[in-house]
Amino acid sequence: GEYLDRLHKVEPQIRSFLHVSETAMREAEELDRMVAGGKELPPLAGVLVGVKDNICTLDMPSTGGSKILEGYRPAFDATAVRKLREAGAIVLGKTNLDEFGMGSSTEGSGFQVTANPWDLSRVPGGSSGGSAAAVSAKQCVISLGSDTGGSVRQPASFCGVVGMKPTYGRVSRYGLMAYASSLDVIGCFGSSVADAAILLNVISGHDRLDSTSSKQEVPDFAKELVSLNNVDSKPLNGLRVGLIKETIGEGVGIGIVSVVKAAASHLEQLGCELTEISLPSFSLGLPAYYILASSEASSNLSRYDGVRYGNQVPTEELSSLYCNSRGNGFGTEVKMRILMGTYALSAGYYEAYYKRAQQVRTLIQKRFKDAMIDNDILISPAAPSAAYKIGEKTNDPLAMYAGDIMTARAKQNRGIGRLVLLSWLSRTVHRGKAACASSCVPLVQEVVQL
Ligand code: GLN
Repeated sequence: GEYLDRLHKVEPQIRSFLHVSETAMREAEELDRMVAGGKELPPLAGVLVGVKDNICTLDMPSTGGSKILEGYRPAFDATAVRKLREAGAIVLGKTNLDEFGMGSSTEGSGFQVTANPWDLSRVPGGSSGGSAAAVSAKQCVISLGSDTGGSVRQPASFCGVVGMKPTYGRVSRYGLMAYASSLDVIGCFGSSVADAAILLNVISGHDRLDSTSSKQEVPDFAKELVSLNNVDSKPLNGLRVGLIKETIGEGVGIGIVSVVKAAASHLEQLGCELTEISLPSFSLGLPAYYILASSEASSNLSRYDGVRYGNQVPTEELSSLYCNSRGNGFGTEVKMRILMGTYALSAGYYEAYYKRAQQVRTLIQKRFKDAMIDNDILISPAAPSAAYKIGEKTNDPLAMYAGDIMTARAKQNRGIGRLVLLSWLSRTVHRGKAACASSCVPLVQEVVQL
């Protein structure tokens, strides 16, 4: 009840939800009865969760932030949502996003602009801006987002919450609207590392409905968290940490650099062996990412033809039905990506763009793998700047893309890493909150592969 009241109270300013559940209160009362009846409760009993609107839910619309899917109600729950419900969580509503996940500020939603709870004149980041803002504004406890090239990590950083992008394949993508299938993952938001770890426990695992989901056993992520309260006991003794030099170099805000450096020296105090490492191929991630992601998007989005789903502009002729439905339904950014992707895939340009980008992707994977020989974890900021003003970059798509430099790495690695860093991250967030509440927090991002 309290959360629902708060949700409605702050929603007119923040606008993080596209749809709020009508049954949440009833589900909560049902749980209360279970408690009263002495029944054993599942691990997330009564926990209120927000779900990004590109993740399908049976009982609520799922629009992907696009007018082309306005009013669409899937006939199934995404696997991650099903697992959450089985664990007793209550899906409170569907959160706002850049249309189909394409964007970095949530201003690209077909429906509304979400504000950053720390400063309402600023963006919450994106594309999972609604999920990050909702946790940050305490409208829900945890939330699901999706990350293709930074859409969990960057909004978490802008909104001062914990964002966890799991390794590709760790969480089933069944029911996640495809953007760039070789990169898409469902990720977690929480206000502490422990919350994110518990959420990850619930949604991880192999799923026969997603052939790319990993069969690797799911460890108990929450159990692996290390308490960092006692700095003197050097809880991270011997952990080799590489700070990627290029991520705190030219073009990165001085505020960001100083917070990341402070965080790195805190790691040293906790016992880590810190070294600055160089990854010269780092900046290639961004151009390779935008070619690959747009190419995959141009193919994935062909399913929105006005026949199978959502928005249809009826006409006599089939080709004009496609044209008008897509012309009306898609927003500018999505159309631009479809054009870019189609161009990069077309005969004559394929070799120069798509194939080249795939080669760069392989090179980046290799460089990261090499860097992981001498390091247990790599760290970098999640974005080159803190949250910017609403409207500041909407007319300059290239500036918007450039903001993804830290997270768009065109990587698709699987590997086992350690969750230990994450509990330290939450401290960074909390310290950061105190230090720069209104300009938002640059959070050292996950490079731990799970
Ligand atoms: N901002 C990036 C893009 O627009 C990443 C989005 C995402 O991770 N879904 O493609």
